Amino acid sequence: MKLWTKLILLVLALGLGLGGYIYYEQKQLENSEIQSFEVSFNGTTIEFLDLQMHKPILGSLIDLSYYVHQDGFNDLNSDQMLNTFKVDPRAKVRISNELGEDVPYQEALVLEPGRYSISVNIVDGIAQYDYLFHVVVDPEPIISLSDLQPSQGGLVLIDIENVSKATEIQVISNFKPSAIYRTAHSAQFYLPMAYQSEAKNYGLQIVVGEDVFDYALDVQTYAFKESHFTVPVSISSGTVGNQDAVKQYRDAIYPTYVSFVEEVYWKGPFIIPVEGARISSTFGEKRFVNNAKNPTRHSGIDYAIACGTDVYASNAGIVEFADFLIMIGNTIVIDHGLGLKTYYEHMEDIVIKAGDIVEKGQLIGHVGTTGYSTGCHLHFQAMVKNQSINPDVLYRLE
Ligand SMILES: [Zn+2]
Repeated sequence: MKLWTKLILLVLALGLGLGGYIYYEQKQLENSEIQSFEVSFNGTTIEFLDLQMHKPILGSLIDLSYYVHQDGFNDLNSDQMLNTFKVDPRAKVRISNELGEDVPYQEALVLEPGRYSISVNIVDGIAQYDYLFHVVVDPEPIISLSDLQPSQGGLVLIDIENVSKATEIQVISNFKPSAIYRTAHSAQFYLPMAYQSEAKNYGLQIVVGEDVFDYALDVQTYAFKESHFTVPVSISSGTVGNQDAVKQYRDAIYPTYVSFVEEVYWKGPFIIPVEGARISSTFGEKRFVNNAKNPTRHSGIDYAIACGTDVYASNAGIVEFADFLIMIGNTIVIDHGLGLKTYYEHMEDIVIKAGDIVEKGQLIGHVGTTGYSTGCHLHFQAMVKNQSINPDVLYRLE
C-alpha cells in the first residue's frame, strides 16, 4: 500500500455565529489510516480537542463540503503536497441524525438540536478508508427584552432566538405574559406592566428548556392624573347602573381577555385612531365621579372630537368583536396577535365586521357618544389579557 496520508478537511461553514456550541469528536475505524481531520467554521480552523469550538444558530445552514487532499508524499514537492481537490469522487459520505435517519449532505444541513453522525468511506484501489465523526448541536437561546425600565402600564416585548419549536418555554413573573408565538427557531411574547402595580423592581425568570434566565424589571412611576366630574343619573342608570347592560358587557368583553390569535399582525408603531382630537381623559386617570370617595381608574385614553369623525384601526389585526353594547355603545375589538388588543368604544357606527382582517389606518367606524358617555369622544384602550396598557407605549413601538 502506498504511504499516502489521507487528510479530510470538513468545512462546516455557518451563516451566523453566536450562542451554544457544537461538540465534535472523531473515531478511527478498523482498517482506516486516518491521520487527522481538520474542521473549520467560518474559515477559522478549530483545534480538535476544543469542544467549545463554535456557536451554531438554529436554522442556519451548514454547508457540508469536504476536501480530500493528498499529503505526506515525501517524493513530491511542497506545491503538490498542498494541492487540494474538492470532493473526492470515490468517497461516500453519509450523515445521519440521532434517530438514524439519513440527512442529505449534498444540500445544506439545517441545524436542529441533536447529534449527527458523519461517516466517510473512500475506496482507493485495494485500500479502504473509513472515517466516522459526530457533531452535537446544543444551542443556547438568545433572549432580548425591549425595555428593562418600563413605566407602570408599559409593555415589554420579549424575543427568543435560537430555540427550536419543541423546546418548552416558561415565564415566571408577577405580570401575566401573553401567549407565546413560536416559529421553527424563535419565540416571541409580550409582558404587560399592569398599571395598578407598584413602581419597583420585579424579578422575571424565563426558562427555555433547561436554561434559566433571570432579569430584573425596574418599573418606573407613571404620573397618573386625577379628575372630578359628574355624570347625570339619566346616563348612568341605563348603563353602569343597569344589570342587563352589565351582563351583556361581561358576556361580550370578558371572553376577549382570554382569547388570542397565534398570528402576529401588527407591524411598527400603532397610530392614534383619530386625527386632531383633544385628550379629554388620560390613561390610568383616577376619576372621582359624582363626588365618589374612591376613584375609578380610566383604563384607556379618551379622544374628544366631533361625532362622525373617522376612526382608524391603530394597527393591523383581526376584528374579534364589532357590535353595539348598551354599556359602551358601538364597540370594536381588534386582536393584533397573541392577544395584544385595541378597543374602540362609544362609536356612532361601525363599518367593518367581526372576522375582518384590517390594515393599520383602515377606516373602521366613526366617533359617537353611544353607551356610557357624556359627549362625542372615542374611548381607545389597549390590552394584553385583562391588563390595560398605555397606548402611548404602543405609539412608540419600533
Ligand atoms: Zn374612556
